[in-house]
Amino acid sequence: MAKIQMTTPLVEMDGDEMTRVLWKWIKEILILPYVELKTEYFDLGLPNRDATADTVTVESARATKKLGVAVKCATITPNVQRMSEYHLHEMWKSPNGTIRRILDGTVFRAPIVAKGIRSYIPTWTKSIVLARHAYGDVYAAVDGIAAEGNKVYLVTEDKEGREVSRKLVHDFNGTSGVVQGMHNCDDSVRSFAHACFRYALEQNLPMIFATKDTISKVYDGQFKKIFEEVYGQYEEQFRAKGLWYLYTLIDDAVARIIRSEGGLLWACKNYDGDVMSDMVATAYGSLGMMTSVLVSPDGKYEYEAAHGTVTRHYYKYLAGEETSTNSVATIFAWTGALKKRGELDGNAPLVAFAEKLERATVSTIEEGEMTGDLVPLFYREGIAPKKLDSEQFLHAVARRMNV
Ligand code: NAP
Ligand code: MG
Repeated sequence: MAKIQMTTPLVEMDGDEMTRVLWKWIKEILILPYVELKTEYFDLGLPNRDATADTVTVESARATKKLGVAVKCATITPNVQRMSEYHLHEMWKSPNGTIRRILDGTVFRAPIVAKGIRSYIPTWTKSIVLARHAYGDVYAAVDGIAAEGNKVYLVTEDKEGREVSRKLVHDFNGTSGVVQGMHNCDDSVRSFAHACFRYALEQNLPMIFATKDTISKVYDGQFKKIFEEVYGQYEEQFRAKGLWYLYTLIDDAVARIIRSEGGLLWACKNYDGDVMSDMVATAYGSLGMMTSVLVSPDGKYEYEAAHGTVTRHYYKYLAGEETSTNSVATIFAWTGALKKRGELDGNAPLVAFAEKLERATVSTIEEGEMTGDLVPLFYREGIAPKKLDSEQFLHAVARRMNV
């Protein structure tokens, strides 16, 4: 059979440890036999980031700006222990952070749903796509200790340094305490809102956004106001597609989401998104089933698995022991990127291939063949789940590609 041709290359960002091993196998077993793969390859593995003084990460992000679609393998974010393990010259920053800063994007995370993999919330039969506003609030806050007797003020100055306002935060009369000042920027909230509405439309999902504006009247009120303004530009398109947008209080949003069947986009402020993305991921079962895509305001896409490099499995692999690492999220990073490339290039066979690979992957699990993390979650009448090792799972998917 003739291989599917590509017109524009993908940006390929290789990574570390067990996911680097899976990366190579996914390409060999599931992609290269079918696609004349064109990529601009960047090795974001920690040794090469160190050797290039991390310029490779910046170059890969710039290439994504140029080509529009990237697929990324999980990478190590160095800490003190990694410094000695890899004899690093510097404690390089998180590649995801660097790429996000350059693309200025919003991260959408979505679980892959397969029949038989029971969510801890049984009514969640469709994916909940979670968007986290990854700028500001408590993550960029200034805080400090106040001694007994201190008064702390919120002071605003204009460009010339003239005081515009001065508000007492607290008079620490009789006790010491803590204070915090945080901010967000209208431009950032606005581009987050655009990214969410656009992604919801693209994915045909209704959307929910929530804050606590009853308590945080000005701060959260500003988020609410900006979302309302931006929604004005999308309202007609939402109506035309029969989709809805709901703004509500975060408490109410949580209650609605728990009672829902999924199948919606949940836009979250930074802290809510941090907490809720882990809750949603856990509820859907395994980290190995969670995908992630970074979308920039000018429509550039970077696809990846939400999990890390699965270090514990890598050391078993190096010791020659059997591993059963879930490759589904990484496969879906590839299919997401190939599908988007195909859509942008008008390459229907490439889109069809990516969709077929997604179906083959999900069917493999639904028919009872899966990695060890999924076995305890699986229940389907008449099907006993069978645990496969990392490589066997990919061959089980490949068998379903060849029918
Ligand atoms: P992790 O790699 O996600 O793994 C944590 C644990 O979750 C694993 O030990 C494993 O549990 C389970 N798990 C995660 N993915 C799995 C999969 N695909 N299949 C089966 N089980 C899976 O997180 P971590 O151990 O905190 O971090 C390891 C390294 O990854 C760190 O160096 C970190 O910097 C990096 N990281 C990178 C990214 C990224 O590139 N986006 C994200 C997060 C972390 P069991 O051991 O119980 O089987
Ligand atoms: Mg978190």
